[in-house]
Amino acid sequence: MSLLVIGSVAFDALETPFGKTDRIIGGSATYITLAASYFTKKVNLVAVVGDDFLASDIAMLQRHGINTEGLQVKPGEKSFFWSGRYHNDMNTRDTLTTELNVLADFDPVIPESYQNCRYLMLGNATPSVQRTVIGRLRQRPKLIVMDTMNLWMNIAWDDLMETLKLVDVLTINDEEARQLSKEYSLVKAAKKIRQMGPKVLIIKKGEHGALLFHENQVFFAPALPLEEVFDPTGAGDTFAGGFIGYLASTGDVSFDNMKRALIYGSALASFCVEKFGTERIVNLSPEEMEDRVQEFVDLVQFEIVVG
Ligand code: AMP
Repeated sequence: MSLLVIGSVAFDALETPFGKTDRIIGGSATYITLAASYFTKKVNLVAVVGDDFLASDIAMLQRHGINTEGLQVKPGEKSFFWSGRYHNDMNTRDTLTTELNVLADFDPVIPESYQNCRYLMLGNATPSVQRTVIGRLRQRPKLIVMDTMNLWMNIAWDDLMETLKLVDVLTINDEEARQLSKEYSLVKAAKKIRQMGPKVLIIKKGEHGALLFHENQVFFAPALPLEEVFDPTGAGDTFAGGFIGYLASTGDVSFDNMKRALIYGSALASFCVEKFGTERIVNLSPEEMEDRVQEFVDLVQFEIVVG
């Protein structure tokens, strides 16, 4: 079933303990759409870039089958630019620059051909833009997944609260969950956040995996212990893209299927961190994917007879 993705399509400049990149393609929607494209060929992008964006980067998205009809290119304007530097632990980073540029007054236009999308992924963007997209769809999608970040908790709290009421699933990291709920315990945090709107909450814990909270049940997906972690940028978005891409391809939003989706999302995110930017996730073979998912299965499979 078809998927609509909104978020940033950007230039990023990254610095990790292993090296630096100049302006390379990044953005929440870039990682989400690329990841989702491994599961469904019906991925529709809504985003905005300036005329400094490279035609070759747009062509790369199209080669993955991503529909870019909803990607606005603004003449005479600059694309969103973000730069960040990772600390030695690779789990924490400092944002060095956020230049909103075209994102500052982004008016998301939904092409007619996207109107019947059954799955909606609201990638990192202002909560008001995320809400505008929901409002511009004639039919409510079967599942709305939203990602957000601490920045919006700091500068757009009321908007964020309004948008949260409209979504089914929220994905955030552990630090953000604590900030949003004002609770240290992630179990208490999950309870509070789920009262804000989303029935399902996914808390990403970087190299310590992810938790899925659903009604009174909780499921844990580990992160794969990797030899090489080069650049964590986009891992959260890649995870979200894999998660919703798998759900959209199966058309099943049950808790059991969400558990599988969590593993597929984690598998894709584990590739993402192995190289800079999108480099590792632009060319994954089906065999690599299968082997990686099998590694996850092997990592957590054990037999215990209780009682
Ligand atoms: P992640 O590492 O999953 O948090 O995502 C990193 C991506 O988010 C980068 O490629 C950035 O371009 C993008 N990004 C960073 N800040 C923002 C923001 N305020 N709004 C939208 N996208 C952002």
